[in-house]
Amino acid sequence: MSTASPAISVAGVTYIYPGTRALDAVSFDIPCASVTALVGPNGAGKTTLLRCIAGLDRPLTGEITVAGVDVLEEPRLAHERMGYLSDFFGLYDELTVRQSLMHAASANGVAGEKLAATVTQAAERLELADRLEQRCAALSRGLRQRVAIGQAIVHAPDVLLLDEPASGLDPEARHSLAALFTRLKDEGMTLIVSSHILAELDEYSTHMLVLRGGKLIEHRPLSQTVSRSQADTVATVAEQPVRVRLAWAYPGLREQLAALPGARVIECNSADALLLVQGAADAQAAVLRTLIEAGVPVSSFSEEHENLHQSYLRSVQRAAGVSAQ
Ligand code: ATP
Repeated sequence: MSTASPAISVAGVTYIYPGTRALDAVSFDIPCASVTALVGPNGAGKTTLLRCIAGLDRPLTGEITVAGVDVLEEPRLAHERMGYLSDFFGLYDELTVRQSLMHAASANGVAGEKLAATVTQAAERLELADRLEQRCAALSRGLRQRVAIGQAIVHAPDVLLLDEPASGLDPEARHSLAALFTRLKDEGMTLIVSSHILAELDEYSTHMLVLRGGKLIEHRPLSQTVSRSQADTVATVAEQPVRVRLAWAYPGLREQLAALPGARVIECNSADALLLVQGAADAQAAVLRTLIEAGVPVSSFSEEHENLHQSYLRSVQRAAGVSAQ
């Protein structure tokens, strides 16, 4: 598929359990060859969203396409284009690792001569090559997790959906999983990874999608290395944290900053401030020009790179502030 069209498109998706609106008019597009960290507090709707994208739950309203396939209209075809690891997965205990991977590959359309090579490749990727003849019942929790991830990627899907993929893995296995996700992304796969372990997501994610109470509260690229075409597909306008330092104290700094269009003050004292500037480099240039023209003694003006944890806390706190108003 073309890299210009989104790998995953979710439009106006609402999902209701009896008495609970788990997803509320959620819309976003995810660019190809990216890793999106799906984050949010317990009960935010992350699992429900992944299940809807995977075609396992049918939303009340909305449209979902994966790799150009309408998931609600053609779920079987969509399944061949995606891999999904649920938060609570099961394996067939009596099958060996090889049989488990073969079963997953065949169920997703891999057949004939390709089958054996596909299984070997997945086993190597998950460092399971020496376990292929072992029965799943005899595997440790972490190894079972690796087999389940192997089953999700064995058919080389365009899109991979992972719900808490690192739970139960030892630190070394977590590290190799992070490296695997980066490699899959570099090879062109598009991943959504739901997890509460933000430091790990930070290692490989290119985008952050925050859900809270079933609503999308933020969706943006995390790194400046994201291309302009990718950034353009993101639903919300990115706000970039910018640190402003002054050569000497300027008593009216807060008021001066508060009056800037397209910028919000996060922290401020008389010689140092953290702003959120909405937009790209030209918006930052406009803010800097306004400050200089007003006579503010700016000595440094630079983007501040937040980690995922800081970005997440900021968006959740902002959403909590908005809903409390
Ligand atoms: P967590 O981080 O705790 O795994 P989550 O973000 O994955 O949470 P979901 O599991 O999608 O959240 O749940 C979203 C909302 O839907 C919650 O309020 C939850 O209680 C509710 N919910 C989930 N599954 C069901 C169900 N089978 N029946 C009724 N309500 C449900």
